[in-house]
Amino acid sequence: MFSIHDFILTENTSLMANNSASLRIHPIPAFQDNYIWVIDNGQHALVVDPGTAEGVVQYLTQHHLILTTILITHHHNDHTGGIDALTEYYNPVVYGPLKEEIAGVTHGLVPGDVIDINDLGLHFAVLDFSGHTLGHIGYSAPTMLFCGDTLFSAGCGRIFEGTPERMFKALNSIKTLPLNTRIYCTHEYTQNNIEFALAVEPHNIALQQYAKRVNLLRQKHLPTLPTNLELELSVNPFLRTDQATLMEALASQYPKAIQDALSLFTFLRAWKNVFPHPPSLGH
Ligand code: ZN
Ligand code: FE
Repeated sequence: MFSIHDFILTENTSLMANNSASLRIHPIPAFQDNYIWVIDNGQHALVVDPGTAEGVVQYLTQHHLILTTILITHHHNDHTGGIDALTEYYNPVVYGPLKEEIAGVTHGLVPGDVIDINDLGLHFAVLDFSGHTLGHIGYSAPTMLFCGDTLFSAGCGRIFEGTPERMFKALNSIKTLPLNTRIYCTHEYTQNNIEFALAVEPHNIALQQYAKRVNLLRQKHLPTLPTNLELELSVNPFLRTDQATLMEALASQYPKAIQDALSLFTFLRAWKNVFPHPPSLGH
């Protein structure tokens, strides 16, 4: 089992990529609780979901980096607001979902596409993460996933445009990635998500332990991200709808609403929307 601390420690140090190039992956905080992830090799850089250029330009300048690539997961402004200014400074290639209209995207992508970021030696597969928005995509490379607003640590994104089915499918596709996949979420929602997760699974020991680690990190104003798939499978209720104990506990209380993994997921997502109120049984 990885400890969350391992991931924080490595975040500013080097991570070996597939072609042995040494890459650094760093979160730039933005707005209230966003992270803009930067990957660089000491010379060139890629940023994911720059909701603002502020902070990003500062970081790139400070580290003498040239921005060559932007990855966009979906159209919300807190993920796209910095494209214009960054394009003016650096003129990068801007990848984003073809299905969504996003000003400044130069290369529209559909799920199944593969993109080569040659200057960083990275190859990303484009995944279908529709649910939060209809065209939402994810970017996966060996041991890393940029998932936008689809998965958060101990939680998942709200379903604004898609259906519970689509979101459930997106989350299930994440579960097929290697267990050591680091997941670079775009919001620091972990503490709040853990409160909900503990209401769902008060007896989950891995979750209780994770809550303590996360509280310590947040006391020091440190990010709780990236997370990793192995950890999320043990603490994230939205990835645990196939767990018999979780299913039995809730289905016995809410038999009308919950019959299978999808209806359990739908129930949990609806409950999270009104939490800390109890689940409404209106559906
Ligand atoms: Zn969003
Ligand atoms: Fe967002």
